[in-house]
Amino acid sequence: MAGVVLREVAKRFGDVRVIEKLDLDVRDHEFMVLVGPSGCGKSTALRMIAGLEEITGGTISIGNRVVNDVPPKDRDIAMVFQSYALYPHMTVRENLEFGLKIRKTARPEMERLVGEAAQILGIDKLLDRKPKELSGGQRQRVALGRAIVRKPAVFLFDEPLSNLDAKLRVQMRAEIKKLQARLGTTAIYVTHDQIEAMTMGNRIAVLNEGRLQQVGAPLELYERPANLFVAAFIGSPP
Ligand code: ADP
Ligand code: MG
Repeated sequence: MAGVVLREVAKRFGDVRVIEKLDLDVRDHEFMVLVGPSGCGKSTALRMIAGLEEITGGTISIGNRVVNDVPPKDRDIAMVFQSYALYPHMTVRENLEFGLKIRKTARPEMERLVGEAAQILGIDKLLDRKPKELSGGQRQRVALGRAIVRKPAVFLFDEPLSNLDAKLRVQMRAEIKKLQARLGTTAIYVTHDQIEAMTMGNRIAVLNEGRLQQVGAPLELYERPANLFVAAFIGSPP
């Protein structure tokens, strides 16, 4: 298990500054939501934590280890995207095994881990199916299965529910929360949806135009917004 610490993290694309001096402390076991309007830099921040995007300043630590120069596969994280990113030609089982094979996990251990993850997510009857034979909710569970099967220290979610219909989205929010609580894995969850942020976060970090506006518990942001942006965005009365 591990917390995640960002210190003065910055990102430029060419001359465009997308993230400026981002400081964030995500505690061990915490469910941190990173919320903000479209284009404010949420995905970029998450991708930097994952190591999929180089940082142009500052340091990122995962579990007391500075990971600036650590490749994504060695960061002990798992990422879940909105476009499930399942391999269409592979079965559910093969999709779940994929990340373990890369790590050269031995076959018996792999079968044990896949069985355990499938059971936790209620997809153990679907292991021989292909993604196209699954509903949206089932695919999302497989994507979650792929994240938990490796037992990472940190989950990174990038708007994982935005392709689902409203009813399923509400159900999956609860499932993700339950899963995270059960496993105790530190989670950073990106969304542009204020309601999703308020219902899921232990704490919420509000980002606007690449700058952190406020970090706090949902009620704290609602009752004591640090500025007008947070007040308007979180929706507390003026
Ligand atoms: P969010 O996830 O909050 O919607 P992003 O992190 O995707 O925002 O993008 C933040 C800003 O960075 C946007 O203005 C976007 O156009 C820009 N951006 C993202 N990726 C790149 C890239 N590879 N090259 C140039 N600009 C980018
Ligand atoms: Mg995004």
